[in-house]
Amino acid sequence: MEVLITGIGDAFTARYFGSSGLIRSDRGLVAIDCPGAVMAMYRQAAEVSGWAVDATDVADILLTHLHGDHSDGLETLGFANRYLRQPPRRPRLHALPEVLDRVWEKLGPAMDGATKSAGETSTLSDYFEPCPIEPGEIRDVGGLSVQCRRGVHSLPCMALRIEREGCSLAWSGDTEFVPELIDWLAEADVVVHECGEQFKHTRYADLATLPLDLQGRIRLIHLPDGADVPLAPLRPLLQGEVLEIQSRD
Ligand SMILES: [Zn+2]
Repeated sequence: MEVLITGIGDAFTARYFGSSGLIRSDRGLVAIDCPGAVMAMYRQAAEVSGWAVDATDVADILLTHLHGDHSDGLETLGFANRYLRQPPRRPRLHALPEVLDRVWEKLGPAMDGATKSAGETSTLSDYFEPCPIEPGEIRDVGGLSVQCRRGVHSLPCMALRIEREGCSLAWSGDTEFVPELIDWLAEADVVVHECGEQFKHTRYADLATLPLDLQGRIRLIHLPDGADVPLAPLRPLLQGEVLEIQSRD
């Protein structure tokens, strides 16, 4: 399994795109989060990696939470799949139920224009197929096995485990340092973990207390611009990097 790291920045980045990634599935591309400037982000990731990346190939979105650095590109992806793609398609939007309940509060004012017959307005389901995912559930996403667990953040946020053919990736989403969550993530072969200095994020010093063999399987994302951290054993991800997931067995 390969993961294209499309963005590595935090909420205040002036250098990078928001923390996010892409995985190929049997249905197209699976996006892990969807920050703003998504078209430019995908173009740049394609140039760096050599992957063919087109926003209209995104068939599934795993949305960890509603902060803008993870969700501001949804409007563009929704419009692109409706107006630029032939035939139009509604990407499946996988998120915690309480996230799906509120996502239209964010998107609606920009997307509920009268695109149907007179007097009717669009809804979330006109652009996306809402797919609530509950912790403990295992979901097939185009041949990928996906499950989630809640992190601890300033609003509902999910961490992910994604498995294919015996190789597994864990993705923390935004969260405080939570030992039980780390244990759950550590069952995967590679763990992408957020690392920040702000309230409701995970501090580097906490991750540095973990066993060394686990630190060697953790890749850092969401670091503040210019963060001065060692390059090992916790290795920061690069924007445009293709992360190859190999089984530990
Ligand atoms: Zn956040």
